Amino acid sequence: MSLMIEDLSKQYSKNLRALKNISFSVQKGECIGIVGESGSGKSTLARILLGLEPFKEGVITFNGDPIAPRNRKLLREYRKNVQMIFQDATSTLNPKLPIWRSLLEPLENYKDFYPSFVEKGLTRMELAEQLLEIVGLEKQMVHRFPHELSGGQKQRVSIARAISLEPSLLVCDEPTASLDVTVQVQILKLLKELQQKTNMTVLFISHDIRAVAYICERVIVLKNGDLVDEFILDDIYDEERHPYTKALIQAASID
Ligand code: ADP
Ligand code: MG
Repeated sequence: MSLMIEDLSKQYSKNLRALKNISFSVQKGECIGIVGESGSGKSTLARILLGLEPFKEGVITFNGDPIAPRNRKLLREYRKNVQMIFQDATSTLNPKLPIWRSLLEPLENYKDFYPSFVEKGLTRMELAEQLLEIVGLEKQMVHRFPHELSGGQKQRVSIARAISLEPSLLVCDEPTASLDVTVQVQILKLLKELQQKTNMTVLFISHDIRAVAYICERVIVLKNGDLVDEFILDDIYDEERHPYTKALIQAASID
């Protein structure tokens, strides 16, 4: 998989440019972080990548093809290959349905696909159980309803759901922002472990540079829609870091 973003801009209204000439690329198996304060354009970028938000300026190519293709077959393939995890896991789980139903929904949409990381020939319920076990939940939980789960457990379910289609790119938009600190760390560990196991590419979005530094090898910094800094994690404390990056580090007091 390769993802290239070239000169991407997004204008919501006359005076509001949420993204300004953003360019970067992402390689297979990489975990790349996007960090910036609230309002810097992170979610806009995520929604554009998922095809949930239109854009007029710039080019985004996935494996060499422009995204949001008109060809329905290509679009369907793209939607399978690029999955997203949101801050609010509740939004991806139907409150009226037991967990297994929401969990298997993506696989229901791609009936000819069977994940390679689970045993062959499972019943649908066994498949749901194995998916839960992969994200560290007890298999009995397939019969529960969303309101019976904690925030961390719901986020694990939404991760299981997202990886069930073996996406080559997983976009995570503030996946830990509404969780307690200890649960945040557990979810970050899980994401990192799954990323290494499956070699999927992860685009990890957070306002918290500590979370980004924990999981990502490369970091991109957005400020008011501008890409102001880009570096590998080893260089996070370099003198040449953008003043805004330094301010984020200082505010997080990780130095
Ligand atoms: P972040 O995720 O970094 O907090 P967003 O991408 O949500 O940033 O927002 C970037 C800017 O775009 C903000 O000024 C926000 O108010 C604005 N914005 C976001 N979504 C919309 C929308 N659907 N319509 C109009 N303005 C929007
Ligand atoms: Mg956001």
